[in-house]
Amino acid sequence: MSDKKPKSRKSVNKHEKVRISHEMSAERKKAVKDAMKDQEISKPEWDRINVSSEYKFNRKKVKPGEIRTIKLNLLKVSIGDSWPTSVCILHGKRPGPVVTIIGAIHGDELTGPSACSHLLSEALTSNGGPLDPSKIAGTVRIVPVVNTPGFKSNSRYFPDGRDLNREFPGRRTSNTTQRVAHRIYHSLIKDSDYIIDLHSAAKGRSNMPQIRADLTHSSSQRLAKSFGIEVILDSKPPKGSLRRVTNNLDIGAITYEGGGASTLDHESVQVAVNGVLNSLKTLHIIPGSPNRPRFRLLASGSTWLRAHGGGLLDMLVGAGSFVEEGDVVATISDPQTPGKSIDLKTPITGLFICSATHPFVTAGTPVGHILPITKSKNLILNQCDDESKLIVNGSLGTPVWREESDIDEISIEGEWIDGNVDSEWQKEWSLSNTSNPNLQSFELAAEEEDD
Ligand SMILES: [Zn+2]
Repeated sequence: MSDKKPKSRKSVNKHEKVRISHEMSAERKKAVKDAMKDQEISKPEWDRINVSSEYKFNRKKVKPGEIRTIKLNLLKVSIGDSWPTSVCILHGKRPGPVVTIIGAIHGDELTGPSACSHLLSEALTSNGGPLDPSKIAGTVRIVPVVNTPGFKSNSRYFPDGRDLNREFPGRRTSNTTQRVAHRIYHSLIKDSDYIIDLHSAAKGRSNMPQIRADLTHSSSQRLAKSFGIEVILDSKPPKGSLRRVTNNLDIGAITYEGGGASTLDHESVQVAVNGVLNSLKTLHIIPGSPNRPRFRLLASGSTWLRAHGGGLLDMLVGAGSFVEEGDVVATISDPQTPGKSIDLKTPITGLFICSATHPFVTAGTPVGHILPITKSKNLILNQCDDESKLIVNGSLGTPVWREESDIDEISIEGEWIDGNVDSEWQKEWSLSNTSNPNLQSFELAAEEEDD
């Protein structure tokens, strides 16, 4: 495997302040700063004195201090499958905001369903646990699997072949996915104060834990920072996405990405659980102090690493690795020309936020998505393991506690190609199941973006 030479580990002065905010485009920088100012809210933010009243969802009632799972039918039909999804409601004894946490809007992305299962475990929700409903101010709604049919068939899509996260706000009388989007929009989105949407990378790649948010939207920026992880991509939400329609309602929304489709990445799940609890603590919905990262990378652009030959790709680094310009990060060998292979070197120093996991490449195939890191290199290296992988806040044990003012914010300049974080990734490779299992074949599906 990797025979990279060990990186130098220069010690970093803990009080070193890295401020390179001038690197973001002046216009966007101003918009992000203005959004930051809007966060200065007068206290008390939520009503802390009164007692909650009953919470109603889908004509069912949840008492203050109670957890109740209520089924929501995604389709209203008298015959055929209505695809019920479970909405778990933790209704606090004190009033506060409504936060909705959503998993598996893409049915094959399992980080969300797994993280939601952990959040709803007895260890967290029982008496004295961090999500004990008697201690909650507000209402936490957890929907582990919103795309029920996609989840059951290990597919990103709805049975009509559409991407639910591109059909919002949907229409009641239109196609199947639009009807479902309309139902979710009116039942789960419109009455939320904050939405956390949990994803993984699409098939053929893996994401390091990262948040995506429009940082010019004030409450989304606040929510993004509250999650307590290092990598935040400032990205406008894709058209028709849950994040887009939520922001249009002026509701704070973030997308969390971690791991890849059809696999369980335990580190990504752990970071998601820790991040959701951090956000709920920051919003004063649950008691306790959130843990915060040593630094935050606020990125508005990236660099792509592409294969310069075809064959079988063997990645030597994975998502989350820190690489230095000229490092060999992958090899490509062509079984048709035995004995020959080529090395792929990274063109820049930076952080691999997403790495290819699919071994078939042709010249030009993107294999790595890198955030360029210049001045703050030592800050990041200081937090890497022996394999040069960034230890994400919340991925190991209990993170140290620090003040918001102790976090270094590092802006990474640039633009996303076509304004979209994932625009350069391959179209999805999907394994289509035929009635004869011996005839399984790989097919290219529609253009994929992760969130
Ligand atoms: Zn997704």
